[in-house]
Amino acid sequence: MLLLSSELYEALRRHGEETYPHECCGVLLGISEDGTNDVKSAVRAGNTRTDSAHNRYNISPQELIKIQREGRVAGLDIVGFYHSHPDHPAQWSQTDFAEAHWVGCSYVITAVEKGTATVTNSFLLTGTGEEDKAFEDEKIEVRVTGKMAVPGLRS
Ligand SMILES: [Zn+2]
Repeated sequence: MLLLSSELYEALRRHGEETYPHECCGVLLGISEDGTNDVKSAVRAGNTRTDSAHNRYNISPQELIKIQREGRVAGLDIVGFYHSHPDHPAQWSQTDFAEAHWVGCSYVITAVEKGTATVTNSFLLTGTGEEDKAFEDEKIEVRVTGKMAVPGLRS
């Protein structure tokens, strides 16, 4: 399960609206415990792909290391990644799967239709490595100050 505050949930969806018609991407920092990726911070990352930024995304290794280091200072690990799919469903693509290497991490995809964020889905990368990795549908739970709400039911 992916757990995050309504502020973070809205922030990563808004990021996709801001970069439309290009993809946005970012890193989720938090604590992974008992099958739950508890997100405490969402870090925006630059989209380093200039060849086709509308359907490809990438975070440079240097940027990723920097984010990881900053997270550790705060006692947080990388628990996931997010990106947007401009005018495309919130489902992972073969490219997304090929470029996913962090087993145990949540891969969040937001569909942005004509500039407006619609469905947000999360996929957990399971397995032990490249040979048997797989994406599993993952529940997103948004924490609204003191209350719980389940979003994305429109999918
Ligand atoms: Zn994608």
